[in-house]
Amino acid sequence: MSELRFDVFRNNWVVIATDVELKPKDFPINRNNTNHAINSNFCPFCEGQEHYTPGELDAFRNPGTEINTPGWQVRAIPNKYSAFNLEGEFNQETSGLFSCANGLGHHEVVVETPQHGLEFHHFTYEQMELVYSMLVTRYNSIKNEERLKYIQVYKNRGLFAGASLGHSHSQIIGLPMVPDYQQAFPHFYKEHGECIMCRMLAEEEQHNVRIVGSTKHFLLICPYASRFSYETWIIPRRHTEHFGDLTEEELKDLTALSSRFFPKLVTCLQDSSYNIVFNTAPVNVDYQPGYHWYMQIMPRLIVVNGMELGSGYHINPVSPEIAARVLREECAVE
Ligand SMILES: [Zn+2]
Ligand SMILES: [Zn+2]
Repeated sequence: MSELRFDVFRNNWVVIATDVELKPKDFPINRNNTNHAINSNFCPFCEGQEHYTPGELDAFRNPGTEINTPGWQVRAIPNKYSAFNLEGEFNQETSGLFSCANGLGHHEVVVETPQHGLEFHHFTYEQMELVYSMLVTRYNSIKNEERLKYIQVYKNRGLFAGASLGHSHSQIIGLPMVPDYQQAFPHFYKEHGECIMCRMLAEEEQHNVRIVGSTKHFLLICPYASRFSYETWIIPRRHTEHFGDLTEEELKDLTALSSRFFPKLVTCLQDSSYNIVFNTAPVNVDYQPGYHWYMQIMPRLIVVNGMELGSGYHINPVSPEIAARVLREECAVE
């Protein structure tokens, strides 16, 4: 049997199989062993190839080393193939049915390690802390640009997550408008006078069936209307609107949790492709209360199919209750 569940965050339904227990090894992508992004002999993100990338925006580097030379641990650079350009003002035009706007925006890459082949989920605590610190620093820097209204931090790992390069990296896009998917937060606050995420945290702790683990500052859950099998959210307990408002102590806690959880998760999911998306409050717009930032980890075990393209309803063959039980057993974070 299956169950239709309403996703309050996306205002849409998800079809969840409630009685099958598909193991990670049963998914077709894993059975084909085709998760890895195409690796060519040349990689512009490797240490020593700095001159092949646009000039660096920021980096953690060894004392005494020059900008755009070797000797770095994490390096932020403009995306050479950016879809956006930060020139002029944002203009939207409509002619009959057709609306368009100029591609105003910002797009950068955070190269997470100088070492090719070493991936985020295998980083040491120290390396992961540098990556999160750089993402926070870059988020807070980009938000100073008034023309940008929403900052999307994300990571694509593996072919089925959309990664085009094998070298471990994250990306940050600054958009000139706020995506619709982020509207559930202010809408819920307007109607109920409370934060939808704080409310969900309280209900999840009460039910205690979809919690994967918890630390002092974060809760890991498989969300009620998970679109992806083994989808997991990392949610700060403190009501915080912006990812960039992470305190030093929370950043260390997130790093400790990530360095324990990610290697086990990826092993448990048989080296699956995955996306990480950071959802956060808009910037440089009129203040609307109710946003609460969080991280979504979406394993890409199945390619989006016709039903999903047609109806917009995702089908998830692993219920979040089963997923949470498996992850609690195999990926303990405490
Ligand atoms: Zn490389
Ligand atoms: Zn909240």
